[in-house]
Amino acid sequence: MAAIEMRNIVKEYGDGFKAVNDVSLDIADGEFMILVGPSGCGKSTLLRMIVGLEDITSGDMVIGGDRVNDKAPRDRNLSMVFQNYALYPHLTVFENIAFPLRLQKGIAEDEIRRRVREAAEMLELNEHLDRKPANLSGGQRQRVAMGRAIVRSVNAFLFDEPLSNLDAKLRGQMRTEISRMQRRLGTTTVYVTHDQTEAMTLGDRVAVLRRGFLQQVASPRELYEQP
Ligand code: ADP
Ligand code: ADP
Repeated sequence: MAAIEMRNIVKEYGDGFKAVNDVSLDIADGEFMILVGPSGCGKSTLLRMIVGLEDITSGDMVIGGDRVNDKAPRDRNLSMVFQNYALYPHLTVFENIAFPLRLQKGIAEDEIRRRVREAAEMLELNEHLDRKPANLSGGQRQRVAMGRAIVRSVNAFLFDEPLSNLDAKLRGQMRTEISRMQRRLGTTTVYVTHDQTEAMTLGDRVAVLRRGFLQQVASPRELYEQP
C-alpha cells in the first residue's frame, strides 16, 4: 500500500483556473519524492492539499489508507517544514521542538524531554536548546524547524523549498543532512523545490509538474539520461 495516494486531484480557484489538473500519483512507504517544475506550476498548491491547508476541488487524497479530503491538518499526522521555518520567536529552541508533542496532550514531561533531546542530538542543536530563534544562524533555524518535524512519528514529512533562504554553502550542507536524516528515519517524504541539484541528489523519484499537470514521474537517473 502506498503511503500517499493521489487520485485525479484537481484544484480550481474561483475564476475557474485549475492550478492542479487531474494529478494521480502514488508515493511509496519510505520514499523520498520530489515535486519540481517552473514557478506557478502548482507545486505548493499540491503540497498544501496533502497537508490539508488547501481544500481539494475534486479527486481523492489517501494517506496511510485513509481518505483525508475532509480531515483537518492536525488529524493527518504529517509534519510540514516551511520555507520561512515558521518558528515561534518567543519560545526557546527546546520549546519550539517540543511544540507538536505538547499539542498531543498526555505525553509525560520526561518523555517530552527525552524525545526533544534525541531530535536535537541528531541535528546538533543540543548546545542551543535554551536560545531563542533570533539568536540563531539561518542554518540553525532550519535545523530547529526540522527538529520540530521529526520529534514525533508521522505518516510523512513535507518540505516546501526548505533551503531557498540559505546561502549556497549551507544549502549543500543541509541537503546532506536532510538526506541522512530521512534515510535514518525511513519516513516518507514529499519535497518541493525548483532547484535541479536538490531534485537530482535527494529524490528517489522526481515528479515534474507543468501548468498544473503531472508531466512525468521518473528516477533522477532516468531524467538525467533522457535526451
Ligand atoms: P508553485 O508552487 O509551483 O510556484 P503554486 O502552487 O503556488 O505554484 O501556484 C499555482 C498557480 O495557482 C499559480 O498560477 C498561482 O498564481 C495560482 N494560485 C495560487 N493560489 C491562488 C489563489 N489563492 N487564487 C488564485 N490563484 C492562485
Ligand atoms: P510561493 O512562494 O509558494 O510560490 P506565492 O508568492 O506564489 O507563494 O503565493 C503566496 C500566497 O498568495 C499563497 O497563499 C497563494 O495561495 C496566494 N496566491 C498566489 N497566486 C495567487 C493569485 N493569482 N490569486 C490569489 N492568491 C494567490
